[in-house]
Amino acid sequence: MPRIASVLLPMPLPEAFDYAEPEGLALAVGDHVTVPLGPRVIRGVVTALRDGTGGNRPLKPVLERVDDPPLPPGALAFVEWAARYSVDVPGWPLAMALRGLRHPPPKPDKVLVLTGVQPARVTPARLKVMAAAEGTKLSGAALASAAGVSAGVVKGLVDEGVLAVDFVEPERGLPQPDLSLPARALNPGQAACVDVLKDMLESGGFQAALLDGVTGSGKTEVYLEAVAEALKDPETQVLVLLPEIALTQAVMARFEQRFGALPAEWHSGVSPPRRRQVWEAVAGGNARIVVGARSALFLPFRKLRLIVVDEEHDSSFKQEEGFIYQARDLAVARAKIEGASVLLASATPSLESLYNAQTGRYRWLRLSARHGAAQLPDIGLVDMRQTPPEPGRWLSPPLIKAMAVTLQRGEQAMLFLNRRGYAPLVLCKACGEKMKSPDTDSWLVEHRYTGRLVCHLTGFSMKKPEACPHCGAKDSLVSIGPGVERVEEEARHIFPDARVAVFSSDTVMDAEGAKALVSSMAAGEIDILVATQAAAKGHNFPNLTLVGVVDADLSLRGGDLRAGERTFQLLAQAAGRAGRHEKPGRALLQTYAPDHAVMRALAAQDRDAFVEAEMAMREDAGLPPFGRLAAVIASGPDGAALDAYVEALAAVIPNAEGVEVFGPADAPLALVRGRRRKRFLVRAERNVDLQGFMAAWRARAKVPNSVRVVIDVDPYSF
Ligand code: ADP
Repeated sequence: MPRIASVLLPMPLPEAFDYAEPEGLALAVGDHVTVPLGPRVIRGVVTALRDGTGGNRPLKPVLERVDDPPLPPGALAFVEWAARYSVDVPGWPLAMALRGLRHPPPKPDKVLVLTGVQPARVTPARLKVMAAAEGTKLSGAALASAAGVSAGVVKGLVDEGVLAVDFVEPERGLPQPDLSLPARALNPGQAACVDVLKDMLESGGFQAALLDGVTGSGKTEVYLEAVAEALKDPETQVLVLLPEIALTQAVMARFEQRFGALPAEWHSGVSPPRRRQVWEAVAGGNARIVVGARSALFLPFRKLRLIVVDEEHDSSFKQEEGFIYQARDLAVARAKIEGASVLLASATPSLESLYNAQTGRYRWLRLSARHGAAQLPDIGLVDMRQTPPEPGRWLSPPLIKAMAVTLQRGEQAMLFLNRRGYAPLVLCKACGEKMKSPDTDSWLVEHRYTGRLVCHLTGFSMKKPEACPHCGAKDSLVSIGPGVERVEEEARHIFPDARVAVFSSDTVMDAEGAKALVSSMAAGEIDILVATQAAAKGHNFPNLTLVGVVDADLSLRGGDLRAGERTFQLLAQAAGRAGRHEKPGRALLQTYAPDHAVMRALAAQDRDAFVEAEMAMREDAGLPPFGRLAAVIASGPDGAALDAYVEALAAVIPNAEGVEVFGPADAPLALVRGRRRKRFLVRAERNVDLQGFMAAWRARAKVPNSVRVVIDVDPYSF
């Protein structure tokens, strides 16, 4: 009986296409194949097989099978699930699942072996080569060097047929974790968490837990033991997701200590050949522990037993471009599909996860004290209205005083400001013109190291002009507001003897750079570290006892739904960098709103009160986690076509109970690279099939060629 193969292509197409299975190919679901698509030949994956022919319109045949490890059923089901969840085409998540295969497989190594043929002429040099070739498979060059002779001698033996060329597969294995190494002695709180997790893993199937422990409580130690438990079955695999590549090295080192081998690493900084190797090892079950960024969720695990999402509250788990998804939510879905457990860890969990813990969907494991003698830092507020900095400066007298005391003691301070560059705005004092990014709703940020004005949104940059481009006035451009470079300048000015460094994505370009800076900080070669968000996470500096937050109100502005939650998380994490070892730590938050609920909760170290108030507010407003949100963002260079489209869309909103649509309105970034952006927001009750609603709605209005429409489920900026 002839069969039809449904083949999904890693392209923006709405569904899998049918092809005829050529006789004798014996395809299976998950196989990689090439198929014709118009004039092109494309590679895709078989998602289903059924008996039949195309009827009167004969189907084009599958061309050939590609000899790569097939996509396991769980990975395939996940791709389909992710597409439906994100109201997007399945080709996008499939492209992510196949990313590791973009680089060709390593070629077999060419080696030389003895054939048994005797040389016509025997010389001492030839004898040395034959001795070295006995029982080995070395390349020509390696053989010559092992025998200590010239390449010509080896070549002569090949020409005579004494040696012949052979091919061997390059080494593709990965180091395996040693599960017999002893665990660290856990404190009683940690041990209790590990007991619950072991129990959960033993009982099998899908299970979820929230590991909710203050900074420095030893959450990593706890999940290392859960990983050990999950790997007891010799075939199982574990995935650990981290929000930032900058954190990977530190976590990899902890795994190496615990299991004697580095885990497989997966993120954008990994080289393409290495990605191919990791992909194959994951598909083959050889990679037992993978530590990676959110895209690691799409790897072809064969037998996934546990997913850990570390720093689960972190907003970088949300991918906002291309295929839009929230990796924390997809991690839970993947675990469900695989019948695995998922462990979400954070010192400041998201309200969504706390809600799931409170309502009993997740097991809730709490660690309320730091490990050992370390104490949580004391958090103080500096009221900037009472004790303002000098004009044109950003550090207040109380913070300067605390820094002086810290430096006198030979301890380190970190100043935290979530703003790259020197100043977020440059304006002309003659005409008032603000320097803006071309065709984009965004100011240009001044960078003094490079002398440039940069758009952080589009990447546009220009040399800082000497005269105002608008009115032509000379030397009239002034820098408004602080960035890390400006705070560094001020710190150097106030403490001329201190060693000051900046940790931002401009000064630390890659993992190597981050490592170098982290080790000079750990070695005490830096007294004051001025850092953006990336540096505020994860790192452990024993001698860091003071954290100063330059502008604690920064992320409260803008009024988005998660502003309060995010500010709380950011500041609690930043403060949590201080005093992680024996020496007590202190954090000072500079704020103009010391009475704001977020600031009060931080100062009182009362997370629960903050969560309770925030939850009550969300419940009143029907916002997540009590309701569901989605956004439609339409954009295009042609304003009239865009307006016509959003009006048409507004006219065909489906009638559905428990759903409200707001808009259209300008999106928060209303103009980017010359494209205007409009947005609808959709709020639904929890039990509504929001994805189904969005898909049905979008299908009702034809999209003009110049307009691009994206649906963002659970949007972050509100
Ligand atoms: P978290 O992930 O909660 O921030 P970590 O796991 O990084 O905490 O632990 C904080 C510090 O305490 C680390 O330096 C870690 O090595 C140490 N630590 C945690 N638990 C233990 C333990 N049981 N024995 C020894 N040291 C521990």
